[in-house]
Amino acid sequence: MSAPVVRFAPSPTGRLHIGNARTALLNFLLARREGGRFILRLDDTDLVRSTQEFADGIVEDLAWLGIVPDITVRQSERTALYDTAVERLIAMGRLYPCYETAEELERRRKRQLARGLPPVYDRAALKLTAEERARLEAEGRRPHWRFLLEHRVVRWHDLVRGDSHVDCASLSDPVLRREDGTYLYTLPSVVDDLDLGITHVVRGEDHVTNTAVQIQIIEALGGAVPAFGHHNLLTTASGEGLSKRLGHLSLKGLRDGGLEPMAVASLAVLVGSAEAVRPVASLDELAGLVDLGRLSHAPAKFDEAELEGLNARLLHAMPYETAKPRLVSLGADGGPAFWDAVRGNLVRMADVAMWWTVVAGEITPVVTDADFLAKARALLPEEPWDGSTWKRWTDAVKAETGAKGRALFMPLRQALTGLDHGPELAALLPLIGRAKVAARLEGRTA
Ligand code: GLU
Repeated sequence: MSAPVVRFAPSPTGRLHIGNARTALLNFLLARREGGRFILRLDDTDLVRSTQEFADGIVEDLAWLGIVPDITVRQSERTALYDTAVERLIAMGRLYPCYETAEELERRRKRQLARGLPPVYDRAALKLTAEERARLEAEGRRPHWRFLLEHRVVRWHDLVRGDSHVDCASLSDPVLRREDGTYLYTLPSVVDDLDLGITHVVRGEDHVTNTAVQIQIIEALGGAVPAFGHHNLLTTASGEGLSKRLGHLSLKGLRDGGLEPMAVASLAVLVGSAEAVRPVASLDELAGLVDLGRLSHAPAKFDEAELEGLNARLLHAMPYETAKPRLVSLGADGGPAFWDAVRGNLVRMADVAMWWTVVAGEITPVVTDADFLAKARALLPEEPWDGSTWKRWTDAVKAETGAKGRALFMPLRQALTGLDHGPELAALLPLIGRAKVAARLEGRTA
């Protein structure tokens, strides 16, 4: 494959959700693996619904996933290119003016449906004479513009779905430009893909029909048709489609919920693929697992509960060097020994703060048997302590008191940590240190 140029093209009309992350990542990882380029294209032709805040949010959410675009373009700044394409299409007779109002179209559609006909635009405007058009314009009507589709089957080899085709005879001629001169999605996308030299268009399978239409427009404009791949869509665990309204599945929501970007990325990419869903530590490693040709063709269920499990597994396997900056920012950098002691007990990174308090802060011990703890205290070895101290100490306590198993360990755990579950005490003991351990065994907050 020569170096691909790909793009991710969200509209800045909402925050990105996990389904958008799938599209963004499939594109980004393809470019990353093949030494290509990744373009962020903000589809902001809808000036009313697009906002700068959402555009900034998209950039921020992508950066959180580790995606930094090589180039960012905004469609609102590229209108001149679209206008030129419109002129060319008009000149070649592939774009024609239409004057129907939305209500007229709706009435016509209902009539067609009532007669059992497909609700396809009947091309009435194509038959208007110059005089009729002039009369409509004199009434104050402004035209919208439709692309004249060739009624033929369009075929392409889809990167995901293999040989694909759409019969354009069953489609309405798409409106490319509205009455007020603004553009709908279809044409700007084609013009930008050609202008930016996009080699691979990887997007959701909700765009399959658009692809047939867009291939016809590309051919009309004399451009090179890129490779197209339509990946399966994600649904919620109960099978609903994802939408921008489902805030908790937004990347921002997942990040605010304390999840690791690689846990989210691993699930977004691997669910509904030929690979088992598992936590993958880096985008480079994930790039090696992407195989568009082996994605499932059925919708893939995105299960938030699964995400939590992946997050935990990712943390359990995370080396100290990777965790260090996060530990520093959480004020819980206790070095490799601390990280190795506690990482196996984390579901979310923020949980580490609790164990840092146990090791370096103050906790109130839980005392169930003060006499037993006093005996244990008297048997505490002198420092220096290491990983073998716990065994040496508890062997001595066992010999002295006769307690064993849970009766031996639980009162010690509760006194030393204030909790009845947690990391191996053998690892925690030297980190807590003799002074705190002795105080806690006396029931003192320390
Ligand atoms: N703005 C379009 C969307 O979000 C882009 C589709 C495409 O990739 O061409 O659906």
